[in-house]
Amino acid sequence: MYRRVLIKLSGETMCGEGSRGFDEKSVQYLVKQISQAVDFGANIGIVIGAGNIFRGEELSNIPYAIADQIGMLGTVINALYLKGVFQKHGVKSVVVSQISNLPSIRPIHYDDINLYFDAGYVVIFAGGTSNPFFTTDTAAALRAVEMGAEVLIKATKVDGVYDSDPKKNKSAKKIERLSYQEAIQRGLKVMDMEAFSICGRYKLPIIVLNFFEDGAILRAIRGENVGSIILP
Ligand code: UDP
Repeated sequence: MYRRVLIKLSGETMCGEGSRGFDEKSVQYLVKQISQAVDFGANIGIVIGAGNIFRGEELSNIPYAIADQIGMLGTVINALYLKGVFQKHGVKSVVVSQISNLPSIRPIHYDDINLYFDAGYVVIFAGGTSNPFFTTDTAAALRAVEMGAEVLIKATKVDGVYDSDPKKNKSAKKIERLSYQEAIQRGLKVMDMEAFSICGRYKLPIIVLNFFEDGAILRAIRGENVGSIILP
């Protein structure tokens, strides 16, 4: 079982695959998945993307650096929305970020992270890495290492790591357990390279699981066999 966990959620978890904005049912489901982990007693950090609002790569008519800043602000919107729904459902959370000076956002101060966890708060890291040209996968890797997570859970729409794209190839095989070296040698895509390299360097296991499988996050935290695990 894991006591301290960073969960990377894509923005689409707010609205359902391929949609935009916020969808009440999807958000309820998200709150349920996180509440289960909190009730179990784990310290939960969350990094959320902005695919439901805006990804930098979607705006090719303006410079990347600016488009990415809009994307980062999307993660701030999602983080605040998440805090709002958590509050409504009695889940204590705090949003921390380096890039925003809004009333409900606290600056990231690493001495405070333990205090938040000790007080039973979910810590939502907003604003990505604060730099353009990165993704929230990389932010998740950085924050996971910084908060002392024992595992990074990448909650996605596939139930693990496959030897080829399961959406394109029906005979794609799932690999339940693999090492970092194996993933690199076989060219398997787990996260983007920057994120993968940070996790590898700091010996952080990564679990890739299907967010849409009810209870999968809790089962992973309990140490059950869910999705795929990449070990240092
Ligand atoms: N982004 C960025 N720097 C970061 C994290 C995110 O510039 O450190 C921008 C980038 O434009 C990205 C967008 O924010 O496309 C949303 O993040 P991401 O694509 O990772 O969201 P997801 O696909 O997980 O919903």
